[in-house]
Amino acid sequence: MDSFRRFQDDDYKNWIKTTMGLNCLKTRLGGFLENETEIYHHHLQNKVNTGGDVCKTKCNLKKWNPTSKVPQVCKVCEPWRDEIWANHSSKGGQVYWSNSKPYLWPTKKWEVAKVYMPRGNMNHTTVDQFDISAFLNLMTHCSHFAKFVKSKSLLTQVNFLTLTNVHIYLCISMTVCMCAGDQREEPGDALG
Ligand SMILES: [Zn+2]
Repeated sequence: MDSFRRFQDDDYKNWIKTTMGLNCLKTRLGGFLENETEIYHHHLQNKVNTGGDVCKTKCNLKKWNPTSKVPQVCKVCEPWRDEIWANHSSKGGQVYWSNSKPYLWPTKKWEVAKVYMPRGNMNHTTVDQFDISAFLNLMTHCSHFAKFVKSKSLLTQVNFLTLTNVHIYLCISMTVCMCAGDQREEPGDALG
Protein backbone atom coordinates (compact mmCIF):
# COMPACT_ATOMS: atom_id res chain seq x y z
CA MET A 1 0.00 0.00 0.00
CA ASP A 2 1.65 3.25 -1.07
CA SER A 3 1.26 6.44 0.92
CA PHE A 4 -1.42 7.91 -1.35
CA ARG A 5 -3.64 4.84 -1.14
CA ARG A 6 -3.17 4.70 2.60
CA PHE A 7 -4.72 8.18 2.96
CA GLN A 8 -7.84 6.95 1.14
CA ASP A 9 -8.36 4.23 3.71
CA ASP A 10 -11.12 5.12 6.22
CA ASP A 11 -9.57 3.15 9.06
CA TYR A 12 -6.28 4.94 8.55
CA LYS A 13 -7.96 8.36 8.40
CA ASN A 14 -9.87 7.62 11.60
CA TRP A 15 -6.71 6.42 13.28
CA ILE A 16 -4.94 9.68 12.36
CA LYS A 17 -7.83 11.79 13.72
CA THR A 18 -7.92 9.84 16.98
CA THR A 19 -4.15 9.96 17.35
CA MET A 20 -4.14 13.74 16.84
CA GLY A 21 -6.93 14.14 19.39
CA LEU A 22 -5.13 12.00 21.97
CA ASN A 23 -1.85 13.86 21.37
CA CYS A 24 -3.63 17.16 21.88
CA LEU A 25 -5.18 15.85 25.10
CA LYS A 26 -1.79 14.60 26.31
CA THR A 27 -0.16 17.98 25.68
CA ARG A 28 -2.89 19.83 27.59
CA LEU A 29 -2.89 17.35 30.46
CA GLY A 30 0.92 17.42 30.71
CA GLY A 31 1.08 21.01 31.94
CA PHE A 32 -1.83 20.53 34.28
CA LEU A 33 -0.37 17.34 35.79
CA GLU A 34 3.09 18.86 36.19
CA ASN A 35 1.55 21.52 38.46
CA GLU A 36 -0.95 19.34 40.29
CA THR A 37 1.54 16.53 40.94
CA GLU A 38 3.83 19.17 42.45
CA ILE A 39 1.01 20.39 44.70
CA TYR A 40 0.16 16.83 45.75
CA HIS A 41 3.82 16.12 46.50
CA HIS A 42 4.13 19.26 48.65
CA HIS A 43 1.02 18.15 50.52
CA LEU A 44 2.63 14.78 51.26
CA GLN A 45 5.92 16.42 52.26
CA ASN A 46 4.04 18.49 54.81
CA LYS A 47 2.02 15.55 56.06
CA VAL A 48 4.78 12.93 56.28
CA ASN A 49 7.12 13.76 59.11
CA THR A 50 10.31 11.71 59.16
CA GLY A 51 12.09 14.06 61.55
CA GLY A 52 14.67 14.92 58.92
CA ASP A 53 15.76 11.30 58.51
CA VAL A 54 16.57 10.01 55.02
CA CYS A 55 16.47 6.49 53.62
CA LYS A 56 19.89 4.96 54.24
CA THR A 57 19.21 1.62 52.57
CA LYS A 58 18.13 3.01 49.18
CA CYS A 59 14.89 1.02 49.27
CA ASN A 60 14.31 -0.34 45.79
CA LEU A 61 11.43 -2.48 44.54
CA LYS A 62 12.96 -3.73 41.29
CA LYS A 63 13.02 -7.29 42.57
CA TRP A 64 10.03 -6.99 44.87
CA ASN A 65 7.90 -10.12 44.77
CA PRO A 66 4.39 -9.05 45.88
CA THR A 67 3.18 -11.20 48.76
CA SER A 68 1.15 -8.38 50.30
CA LYS A 69 -0.69 -5.32 49.05
CA VAL A 70 2.11 -3.01 50.16
CA PRO A 71 5.88 -3.57 49.93
CA GLN A 72 8.23 -3.83 52.86
CA VAL A 73 10.41 -0.74 53.12
CA CYS A 74 12.60 0.87 55.77
CA LYS A 75 11.23 2.90 58.69
CA VAL A 76 11.91 6.18 56.89
CA CYS A 77 10.10 5.14 53.70
CA GLU A 78 7.22 3.55 55.59
CA PRO A 79 5.18 6.71 56.32
CA TRP A 80 5.53 7.73 52.65
CA ARG A 81 4.33 4.30 51.53
CA ASP A 82 1.35 4.49 53.90
CA GLU A 83 0.34 7.96 52.73
CA ILE A 84 0.64 7.03 49.04
CA TRP A 85 -1.45 3.94 49.76
CA ALA A 86 -4.05 5.92 51.73
CA ASN A 87 -4.61 8.08 48.64
CA HIS A 88 -4.85 5.14 46.24
CA SER A 89 -8.34 4.34 45.02
CA SER A 90 -7.49 0.92 43.63
CA LYS A 91 -6.67 -0.97 46.81
CA GLY A 92 -8.58 -4.00 45.54
CA GLY A 93 -6.76 -4.08 42.20
CA GLN A 94 -3.18 -4.37 41.11
CA VAL A 95 -0.86 -1.56 42.21
CA TYR A 96 2.48 -1.23 40.46
CA TRP A 97 4.71 -0.21 43.36
CA SER A 98 7.71 -1.47 41.44
CA ASN A 99 7.31 1.45 39.01
CA SER A 100 8.89 3.64 41.67
CA LYS A 101 11.95 3.97 43.89
CA PRO A 102 10.86 4.50 47.52
CA TYR A 103 14.04 6.28 48.60
CA LEU A 104 13.18 9.04 46.10
CA TRP A 105 9.59 9.56 47.31
CA PRO A 106 10.50 12.53 49.56
CA THR A 107 12.30 14.42 46.78
CA LYS A 108 10.88 13.33 43.39
CA LYS A 109 7.19 13.89 42.72
CA TRP A 110 7.03 11.56 39.72
CA GLU A 111 8.35 8.65 41.79
CA VAL A 112 5.23 9.10 43.93
CA ALA A 113 2.95 9.59 40.92
CA LYS A 114 4.20 6.41 39.24
CA VAL A 115 2.60 4.26 41.96
CA TYR A 116 -0.77 5.31 40.50
CA MET A 117 0.24 4.44 36.94
CA PRO A 118 0.27 1.18 34.94
CA ARG A 119 3.26 -1.11 34.69
CA GLY A 120 6.07 -0.04 32.39
CA ASN A 121 6.81 3.43 33.75
CA MET A 122 9.78 2.44 35.90
CA ASN A 123 12.36 4.40 33.90
CA HIS A 124 10.26 7.50 33.27
CA THR A 125 11.18 10.56 35.31
CA THR A 126 9.77 13.61 33.50
CA VAL A 127 6.27 14.54 32.38
CA ASP A 128 7.01 14.25 28.66
CA GLN A 129 8.05 10.59 29.06
CA PHE A 130 4.63 9.39 30.21
CA ASP A 131 1.91 8.39 27.76
CA ILE A 132 -1.76 9.35 27.89
CA SER A 133 -2.65 6.08 29.60
CA ALA A 134 -0.23 6.86 32.46
CA PHE A 135 -1.82 10.31 32.83
CA LEU A 136 -5.37 8.93 32.90
CA ASN A 137 -4.48 6.23 35.42
CA LEU A 138 -2.84 8.79 37.69
CA MET A 139 -5.99 10.93 37.58
CA THR A 140 -8.21 7.90 38.14
CA HIS A 141 -6.33 6.29 41.03
CA CYS A 142 -4.92 9.23 43.02
CA SER A 143 -7.47 10.83 45.32
CA HIS A 144 -5.83 14.25 44.87
CA PHE A 145 -7.40 14.43 41.42
CA ALA A 146 -10.89 13.42 42.51
CA LYS A 147 -11.97 17.07 42.66
CA PHE A 148 -11.07 17.50 38.98
CA VAL A 149 -12.64 14.27 37.75
CA LYS A 150 -16.37 14.61 37.23
CA SER A 151 -16.72 11.19 35.69
CA LYS A 152 -14.27 8.37 36.21
CA SER A 153 -16.06 6.37 33.54
CA LEU A 154 -15.17 9.10 31.04
CA LEU A 155 -11.47 8.67 31.87
CA THR A 156 -11.90 4.91 31.53
CA GLN A 157 -13.53 5.40 28.14
CA VAL A 158 -10.71 7.64 26.90
CA ASN A 159 -8.20 5.11 28.19
CA PHE A 160 -10.08 2.38 26.34
CA LEU A 161 -10.02 4.56 23.21
CA THR A 162 -6.24 4.84 23.61
CA LEU A 163 -5.84 1.08 23.83
CA THR A 164 -8.25 0.56 20.92
CA ASN A 165 -6.30 3.07 18.87
CA VAL A 166 -3.11 1.13 19.49
CA HIS A 167 -4.94 -2.00 18.36
CA ILE A 168 -6.17 -0.26 15.20
CA TYR A 169 -2.63 0.97 14.57
CA LEU A 170 -1.31 -2.57 14.82
CA CYS A 171 -4.01 -3.86 12.45
CA ILE A 172 -3.26 -1.15 9.90
CA SER A 173 0.47 -1.75 10.24
CA MET A 174 0.03 -5.48 9.74
CA THR A 175 -2.06 -4.78 6.64
CA VAL A 176 0.65 -2.48 5.35
CA CYS A 177 3.32 -5.12 5.96
CA MET A 178 1.30 -7.88 4.38
CA CYS A 179 0.66 -5.94 1.18
CA ALA A 180 2.26 -8.00 -1.55
CA GLY A 181 5.32 -6.60 -3.19
CA ASP A 182 5.89 -3.76 -0.73
CA GLN A 183 8.79 -4.52 1.59
CA ARG A 184 9.74 -0.95 2.32
CA GLU A 185 7.29 -0.20 5.11
CA GLU A 186 7.60 -1.49 8.65
CA PRO A 187 5.01 -1.11 11.46
CA GLY A 188 6.93 1.80 13.03
CA ASP A 189 6.79 3.79 9.77
CA ALA A 190 3.13 4.60 10.26
CA LEU A 191 3.95 6.58 13.40
CA GLY A 192 6.90 8.45 11.92
ZN1 LIG B 1 13.93 3.36 52.66
